[in-house]
Amino acid sequence: MSLDFYNVAEFFTDEEKMIQKTVRDFIQKEVIPNIATWYEKAEFPRHLISKMADLGLLGANLEGYGCAGLGPTAYGLILQELEAGDSGLRSFVSVQGALVMYPIYAFGSDAQKEKWLPGLQQGKKIGCFGLTEPTSGSNPGGMKTTAKKEGDHYILNGSKYWITNATIADVCVIWAKTEEGVRGFLVETNRPGVKTEDIKQKFALRASCTGEVILSDCKIPKENILPKTEGLKSALMCLNQARYGISWGAIGAAQSCYQQALEYTKDREQFGKPLASKQLIQDKLSWMVQEITKAQLLAWRLAKLKETGQMKHYQISLAKKNNVWMALEIARMSRDMLGANGTTYDYHVGRHMCNLEAVKTYEGTHDIHSLVVGEAVTGISAYR
Ligand SMILES: Cc1cc2nc3c(=O)[nH]c(=O)nc-3n(C[C@H](O)[C@H](O)[C@H](O)COP(=O)(O)OP(=O)(O)OC[C@H]3O[C@@H](n4cnc5c(N)ncnc54)[C@H](O)[C@@H]3O)c2cc1C
Repeated sequence: MSLDFYNVAEFFTDEEKMIQKTVRDFIQKEVIPNIATWYEKAEFPRHLISKMADLGLLGANLEGYGCAGLGPTAYGLILQELEAGDSGLRSFVSVQGALVMYPIYAFGSDAQKEKWLPGLQQGKKIGCFGLTEPTSGSNPGGMKTTAKKEGDHYILNGSKYWITNATIADVCVIWAKTEEGVRGFLVETNRPGVKTEDIKQKFALRASCTGEVILSDCKIPKENILPKTEGLKSALMCLNQARYGISWGAIGAAQSCYQQALEYTKDREQFGKPLASKQLIQDKLSWMVQEITKAQLLAWRLAKLKETGQMKHYQISLAKKNNVWMALEIARMSRDMLGANGTTYDYHVGRHMCNLEAVKTYEGTHDIHSLVVGEAVTGISAYR
């Protein structure tokens, strides 16, 4: 069961509903019974990669190379149902599809596409996306990683930090400064000069690998450059794909928290009556219903704009910012409504809450998306 107060599902085709149900069933069967243990142990459930690949969830919105070629709504619903399970699982699918397969698909040579896309789609190869560095996050233009051309090769030096899938990846899409500006490169992680390390002791996204990719005089053939990348604009195009998915994914986490708060407060009695009979509790539930419904309509409309080629980057920013904020507020509120029990892994709300703190920060922070929308409406850039 998940909330659909305005029957938004009426907008979905039978195929989209079927895809949504398939992923929902997968999450209920494979993820919900075990996620608390994986989260507590800070373990990414690697064995689920092949199962997700078999369901066609990797690069699901791309065409060819074994990809499912789904439209934006079906793709969004996949991410929504995955994130109802855990944001870490959705992060894996977002990175693999939107940040690794998409750049190869959009900016790669035919040989690169043939070499990488089928394996990535089947989950036999894993990718990561290296843009952020220890000293540059919101401002990727401040990156220090360089790629120097020497004959038939490039020599890469630098460090990429906070990289999802870093230590399990076969290939990393590395963004580096060259004499012609920022370009994207495919760097196999088993090359000499590449080292990866996990970032440990995170309190968010514990069931997801996050790490560092260190490049020390890493020599790659010139064929490994993504030939159609043109400056940071290309990296931002990848981020737009991922941010679109997050705006759907966050709804799943919010629905999961709302459902748990609803069931818990109907069941739990204090002062001789169920908590759900109290006006303050009903006000909170009603606020959650209102915000989830608004977020669903925003995501659905964004999908239609994407489908018809009208979607603008600032519209994605508004949806990412609003929907993640809404989900985080609902997670925090649900955690509170479950009292002490809400602080344990026996319930999902605390885990979703911690995850969403990271989701609020990655793929452009909440504040940076405010500046994107601010620039769109005023024509004035306020970043610097
Ligand atoms: C779990 C996790 C996974 C991640 N995965 C990846 C990945 O796979 N690949 C990758 O490349 N990156 C990844 N990231 C990095 C993520 O994209 C960055 O953390 C994000 O871009 C923010 O950068 P920062 O952490 O350096 O924060 P900063 O840029 O230092 O920002 C700190 C604070 O300052 C605010 N701020 C920044 N600039 C301004 C401004 N101009 N005006 C007002 N306020 C401002 C921000 O909103 C924020 O509140 C991941 C991060 C996390 C937490």
